[in-house]
Amino acid sequence: MRFAAQKGTKDILPADIYKWHKAEKVFAGVCHDFGYEEIRIPTFEQTDLFARGVGDTTDVVTKEMYTFNDKGGRSITLRPEGTAGVVRSYIENGMGSLPSPVRMFYNITAFRYENVQKGRMREFHQFGLEAFGSEGPAIDAEIISIVDIFFKKIGLKSIKLCINSIGCPACRKKYNEILKDYFRPHVSGMCEDCRTRFERNPLRMIDCKIDGEKEIVKSAPRLIDYLCDDCKAHFEGLKANLDAVGIRYEIDPNIVRGLDYYTRTVFEFVSENVGTQGTICGGGRYDGLVENCGGAATPGIGFAMGVERLLMEAEAQGIVFDKNDSVRIYIAGMSEAAGAKIAKLCYDLRLEGIGCETDLMKRSFKAQMKYAGKSGIPFLAVIGDDELASGEVKVKNMATGEETPVRLDGFVEYCKGNIV
Ligand code: ATP
Ligand code: MG
Repeated sequence: MRFAAQKGTKDILPADIYKWHKAEKVFAGVCHDFGYEEIRIPTFEQTDLFARGVGDTTDVVTKEMYTFNDKGGRSITLRPEGTAGVVRSYIENGMGSLPSPVRMFYNITAFRYENVQKGRMREFHQFGLEAFGSEGPAIDAEIISIVDIFFKKIGLKSIKLCINSIGCPACRKKYNEILKDYFRPHVSGMCEDCRTRFERNPLRMIDCKIDGEKEIVKSAPRLIDYLCDDCKAHFEGLKANLDAVGIRYEIDPNIVRGLDYYTRTVFEFVSENVGTQGTICGGGRYDGLVENCGGAATPGIGFAMGVERLLMEAEAQGIVFDKNDSVRIYIAGMSEAAGAKIAKLCYDLRLEGIGCETDLMKRSFKAQMKYAGKSGIPFLAVIGDDELASGEVKVKNMATGEETPVRLDGFVEYCKGNIV
């Protein structure tokens, strides 16, 4: 019997993990620089939370959720995204009483039953953040600059930022009527989903993956032209804040985002490279969400970034990440007696935080040399009976070939000062 990873899931192998570690570290570092702390939320929640928190007219909730009954008969869903869980936690833990804005970032797996394609998985990873309590638009621009700075620190270039405003419930109500009048003569020829959306949430017709490319959808009235004065001022404020720090953007009136709870600012960072799965990061404001999930009325904003798509883009742009080079020295043994000494040296080195390796495979001396050469470990020492007798060992720099004699009783000290 052979087992295989489930469709849409992937192992991240030790040979590739350094890229993930790098991205995770840089993301956490940038978030910390903006005053965000990490939150870790559970992998599964009560199904209703997502119906409320993501929106029951979204594709995510209507088609993509991993939902099951547990042995206690509860309906459980594997999180398809992070915002709903963070909002639940914010309310449940009374974080509304903390000084505002309350800012959190996360690094999570997410689960969606999707048509698997390149950059579209069933289990995938997201970096994201949420900020509660600030009405913006300064914070809207600030979270966009978190993504911008993160991309810069990773080395990514030319990723397009698209922004839009989808207004508040008041402008959306007015707009939905305008949109319904516009689509009414055409709706019978549209896809089944759009016919439902027409009744329940016409705005989502703009985002349709089937009809979205049709002229009738493309030339539909645009919400951005029907914003109320407050929403208009908010959008102008966002643009001014982005201009002030020199972040370039395009206005894309067709971004409505996949999730129901967005208000006002919505944005996406889009690559040209990743084929049809080009959206690396999406986010926006959700001023009604906390209240909708049972908390006090609290403005909020956040984004989520697909880590697989991020790394695909980094690869397409030829970005090389530093590999883990913790192991600094290989200590080869030439005799049995040397084995005990090497074990002790390795122990002492590791205690000092200096990574080292020695033979665990009973390899011949020649095979140890071959292994050390192939491994890319930057320094090498060989210990045999001669070295034990003289109390001195040569430490070889594998890149330059240079050899330095080192006293065995000062070996750890030498390594501390010279090979890390
Ligand atoms: P798409 O339009 O590509 O389906 P979405 O609007 O469903 O994206 P969001 O819910 O906004 O995506 O999630 C934020 C980010 O997470 C996306 O921009 C993308 O980078 C990533 N993402 C979403 N779904 C997947 C998936 N199935 N596999 C890999 N990454 C994903
Ligand atoms: Mg999707």
